Amino acid sequence: MTLLLQPKILEYTTEDTSSRTWLAVSNSLKKEYGEETFKSWISKLDFVSCANGHLDFTVPTRFIRDWIATHYEKRLLKLWRQHDINIKKINITVEPKKNPNTDIVKSSERASIGTPVSNEPNAAEHANTSITNLDRRFTFENFVVGKPNELAYAAAKAVADAGVVQAGSNPLFLYGGVGLGKTHLMHAIAWHINKNNPKRRVAYLSAEKYMYQFVKALRNKDIMSFKEQFRSVDVLMVDDVQFICGKDSTQEEFFHTFNELIDNNRQIVISCDRSPSDLEDMEERIRSRLGWGLVADVHSTTYELRIGILQSKLDQMNISIPKNVVEFLAAKISSNVRELEGALNKVIAHSNLIGREVTLEVTKEILRDLLRSNERAVTIEDIQKKVSERFNVKVSDMSSSRRLRSVSRPRQVAMYLSKSLTQRSFSEIGKKFGGKDHTTVMHAVKKVEELMSIDIEFGEDIRLLKRILEC
Ligand code: ADP
Ligand code: MG
Repeated sequence: MTLLLQPKILEYTTEDTSSRTWLAVSNSLKKEYGEETFKSWISKLDFVSCANGHLDFTVPTRFIRDWIATHYEKRLLKLWRQHDINIKKINITVEPKKNPNTDIVKSSERASIGTPVSNEPNAAEHANTSITNLDRRFTFENFVVGKPNELAYAAAKAVADAGVVQAGSNPLFLYGGVGLGKTHLMHAIAWHINKNNPKRRVAYLSAEKYMYQFVKALRNKDIMSFKEQFRSVDVLMVDDVQFICGKDSTQEEFFHTFNELIDNNRQIVISCDRSPSDLEDMEERIRSRLGWGLVADVHSTTYELRIGILQSKLDQMNISIPKNVVEFLAAKISSNVRELEGALNKVIAHSNLIGREVTLEVTKEILRDLLRSNERAVTIEDIQKKVSERFNVKVSDMSSSRRLRSVSRPRQVAMYLSKSLTQRSFSEIGKKFGGKDHTTVMHAVKKVEELMSIDIEFGEDIRLLKRILEC
């Protein structure tokens, strides 16, 4: 009897302790990886049990499981073992979440959506426009994957491949600086679905176009058909959603469409130049709703990725240029892929025109102006963005007056870097940081220099940031 009872009691306590351990571990993970990553991935783990040296979790989709397994599982295990050394293994199983509001659309319903019906002029017209709007070159095959964009690529591919909508990836929110491949990925999703699953209706449009159509519909008192065209799609993609920030009625309308589509289990893909939490002019409830699904950032390119992209473009054009020219371009044009492509095209076009072979000398000559502007490209905004990423704080905190050390220190670092990497004066820098006084900036610079001289690790960190920003 006692033997039977004891394990029961033990089991109870273990469960209790392991739930507490999970709370502690997930808190540490949140601190390490930041809110955004935590929300997208780690928070999707449902802790089930801890027994026989195994931890069991469930997640809603296979994609989330694979991503967590390759990126966070090792760290999770290590942290857990600090609490309980007996844990040897983590099992993550996929258990799709059943949500009564987002039930899978029945295939009969889907088919009727997929087939344009003659009395639905808007839907048919819309579907056509969306495909002709797409750039032929923007496919997954032509997208070069590297560390900075692997998450965005994998997420976009998963959305394109999925026959049914994956609750954990809806909406898919892609964000990152200009020219880094967000539009390319959205078009790639559309091409992929168009080819492999032509019955699924895909609509792609820019937020500006969305707004324009909305305003036009308002003027023509035709809101019903405006709404109808979006209701009839399976996948809605809205590019550069930052454009509807601050536009109250469009924002509101967008939110309605958005909710309706999500409730009907349609996939939404959004791109933006900043993260949901940095969308300051967007209403709080909309902002938080946008971040519910999968938030994937596209980081600035690395040198390796730029080399890969140039090589791939050359292969596509069936052209070869000397290796030192490719390396030169990848090293010098680091702002974004659009500029990199532009520079490559310019070099090729010019040398064709003047009938000269592409050499390093010719390249330097052709790109003289562009290179000059790239050299002074680092701006205070770039610095604020990089520093916020590095320290996991919001870009908006750079201009806030929050005194919390975890926020004020990164702000001081950004001020210091602004002073050393730009020509701006102390008071100009202060203005860019939410109108701070020049003495605050001077103090920040002194403080960071002091810390760099006494804390080796901190100093290394800052020097690395500086190098990244300079290249
Ligand atoms: P964004 O929408 O983020 O501003 P785009 O998607 O318009 O950027 O990309 C700008 C250009 O760079 C496009 O011509 C695109 O094909 C190219 N590009 C961006 N990232 C990649 C990549 N990883 N591989 C190949 N081409 C890329
Ligand atoms: Mg774009």
